[in-house]
Amino acid sequence: MNSIYSVISERAFPWVVKNAPLVAGGVAAAGILAGIAYSFFHKPTPAAPQPIEEESNLGKRCDLAVVGVGPIGIVLACLIKALCPHLQVEAFDKRTTATREHALRIRSDSIGEIVKLLQDALKDETFVTSATIRNKLEDLMRFFQRLAMRRAIPTLEIEKNLESYATEDLGIKIHRGKNHGVWNTAAARTAYADQVRKEEPIGSDGYLFDEFLDEVKPTLVLGTDGAHSEIRQALNATKIDQANLGRLLELKYTAPHDIRSRKLLDKSYQAIISEGWDFETFSKPKPGALPSDRIRVTLHKFIDENVHQALLIPQQDPQQPGDEIIRGSSKYPWSFKDLKNEKNPHCQMISNHLQMYFSNHHLDPKNPDHISKDRITTIPIAVYQSSSSAEAYKNKAFVLLGGDSSSGMGFESGFNKGLREAAACARAVKQYFEHVPPRAKHDFSKLPPEFQKYQEEVVAIYKNEKRWAQAKQFALNVSNFCLKCITRPFKWIFNS
Ligand SMILES: Cc1cc2nc3c(=O)[nH]c(=O)nc-3n(C[C@H](O)[C@H](O)[C@H](O)COP(=O)(O)OP(=O)(O)OC[C@H]3O[C@@H](n4cnc5c(N)ncnc54)[C@H](O)[C@@H]3O)c2cc1C
Repeated sequence: MNSIYSVISERAFPWVVKNAPLVAGGVAAAGILAGIAYSFFHKPTPAAPQPIEEESNLGKRCDLAVVGVGPIGIVLACLIKALCPHLQVEAFDKRTTATREHALRIRSDSIGEIVKLLQDALKDETFVTSATIRNKLEDLMRFFQRLAMRRAIPTLEIEKNLESYATEDLGIKIHRGKNHGVWNTAAARTAYADQVRKEEPIGSDGYLFDEFLDEVKPTLVLGTDGAHSEIRQALNATKIDQANLGRLLELKYTAPHDIRSRKLLDKSYQAIISEGWDFETFSKPKPGALPSDRIRVTLHKFIDENVHQALLIPQQDPQQPGDEIIRGSSKYPWSFKDLKNEKNPHCQMISNHLQMYFSNHHLDPKNPDHISKDRITTIPIAVYQSSSSAEAYKNKAFVLLGGDSSSGMGFESGFNKGLREAAACARAVKQYFEHVPPRAKHDFSKLPPEFQKYQEEVVAIYKNEKRWAQAKQFALNVSNFCLKCITRPFKWIFNS
């Protein structure tokens, strides 16, 4: 065999066979040169990633899902994203746009909690490792410092400003509209079961909470969906404390917006306080509204128990003779005309007060072009707290509640209480994700210590706010009593 190959090669390549040592040296030199050129020009492809244990949450769409983009939801989303830039944050709201118009009185102590949290983060050199992180923290801090300088701010202004900052600067994804609502009521469950039965597309009316968790796969859910929170219902967190705090007189009416313009919301809000009313809110005119188009206005005043009781008058139901209704309740409100005709001195006092308010604003209550759909009611203000504000939910995610969904404080303190919770919540989330990376295997069977601490803080914040609100109500009652003691003798002298 060997001799056949040597004969063939000698005949085919006689020169190569003769100069075999020279040829071998040339081939070796060419190989070395090619190797050098290859290593110089070739960029090595990175080694394929090794599957690591951390990827157990693969398929997860986001780390944090905020349900409810009201003032507290958006504050929380921005705070957490600024403090934990590595987290994927998405927010969901059933409304297509922010709509809440009422002005919020902001206490400097609650804003102070947020500013302190941001200042502490700015001081932490291990965290502020780039100018981007620093700038974002500083921007947010300046926003809150500016809020602290104002007495009252329309809810919409907070929501709109923070929402554009959240999407444009922080990269938070915000999903709005009916199909982004998250539900958990029995009705929602039945509707969902119907959709499944009829094989209709699921999700067009929003998500059921469990379905939401399966689809969005968040590690953490923040339920900030307001006083009627669906997320609170999902946690089975029933109310554990409810107390009535004071009474509120409410006048709702519609007026042409050139007369009661909302342009000067802050100013008129303060003017109202000096006129003896506690606050006034306006609806937003539709885009392109004419000056004569109508807006809804609501006027509020805190009143004492006597006035509240005097305004609630049992009457015969005009629709159902023989049945009794309570005039002045939210179901059967007074009109200004009827209240004026009522002889009761408290009704007279309130209608005189309203008359003064109307004339100050150049409104004629008898002219339907000025005032229409007027409804006057008196309502008790409730305070409540839910039994749980933090839970490890069915081995699927951690769920924390904040703002009105964890407890409602009546008008005056709701937002302030929510801000304190937001600071505590953002701190807890930062601490948790500092030692458990977002893509790690999370133990959803029990609540981590950071979130347990948050639950305790929520209870303490609630109790503190409740004491504060009760003290305020007590002070109001005492001042009313003193005023009566001073004015009674004069009334008696002048009347006799
Ligand atoms: C007239 C008035 C005056 C007030 N004045 C003051 C004041 O001066 N000072 C003060 O501290 N507080 C005040 N409050 C209270 C304050 O408005 C609330 O405490 C505050 O708005 C609570 O914010 P939040 O984000 O928790 O809830 P909300 O403002 O109720 O926002 C909840 C958000 O969740 C969304 N949502 C609801 N359900 C779902 C769902 N199923 N799926 C998805 N999204 C959902 C809603 O669309 C909304 O955007 C006042 C309230 C009123 C009504």
